[in-house]
Amino acid sequence: MKITFLGTGGGRIVTVNQERCTGGIYLQGERRVHIDPGPGAALLLRKEGKSPLNTDAILVSHCHPDHYSDAEVLLEGMYLKKREPSGLLLASKSVLEGVEDVGPAISKYHQRRVKRVVVAEPGRAVQLSPFTFIPFKTYHNDPSSVGFIIDTPSGRISYVSDTSLNPGLLSQQKKIDLLILSVTRPLEARIKYHLSTEDAAFLVEKIKPALAIMTHFGKKAINSDPDLQAGWVHRKTKIKTVAAKDGMVVEMSKGGVEVVREGWSEV
Ligand SMILES: [Zn+2]
Ligand SMILES: [Zn+2]
Repeated sequence: MKITFLGTGGGRIVTVNQERCTGGIYLQGERRVHIDPGPGAALLLRKEGKSPLNTDAILVSHCHPDHYSDAEVLLEGMYLKKREPSGLLLASKSVLEGVEDVGPAISKYHQRRVKRVVVAEPGRAVQLSPFTFIPFKTYHNDPSSVGFIIDTPSGRISYVSDTSLNPGLLSQQKKIDLLILSVTRPLEARIKYHLSTEDAAFLVEKIKPALAIMTHFGKKAINSDPDLQAGWVHRKTKIKTVAAKDGMVVEMSKGGVEVVREGWSEV
């Protein structure tokens, strides 16, 4: 299975100025799954030679535009293949129904374009054979935010979306092969509702994945050199940790997980 980073930027400033892309993460194995398609996702899929018509599922972790903004366009793509509602949309309650003053982000019209629309409830597994998605609670300023464990025949991924560090994050994290962390802030610059490099090290040390990837870099994280930040985590935890670059591709199989393309600049 291939995991392509269609963006590694996050937070307000980087999303607005597109210093890093924000197209989400695309899994291509027995199923094709697009996670958190933010601004530019459709364009970046095209850059990769992939068609939104082939997407089987879209996962949206919470109702901030760096995570959902291209979702409706991509749902149109899933519909277009057979010109009938198809595929799975698994998203936080805020994205689908709205929670307090957040959302909804995907119109009722576009939700009807999908065969299965499922509100992501922490701990409630959703099957898309042979994949299983297990949402888990994250601690962000959208109260219905989730992360996703993704079980596949090639291995187990945990995608930790925007969140404060909280022991509750650890409850579902068993036997993770690939841990993807949204590390908006660098060392000594922690803010509420987001992970910093120190928080990333805590999670990597506890979860012990085969490989940890840091992504979703905010302005300060970019200015502090994500490679250095990931190096700090790697040295502290002794667990391989890398900073994602736009266009990075990771291959996962029963034999292990490895970076097979550093990013677009090297193509
Ligand atoms: Zn974000
Ligand atoms: Zn957010």
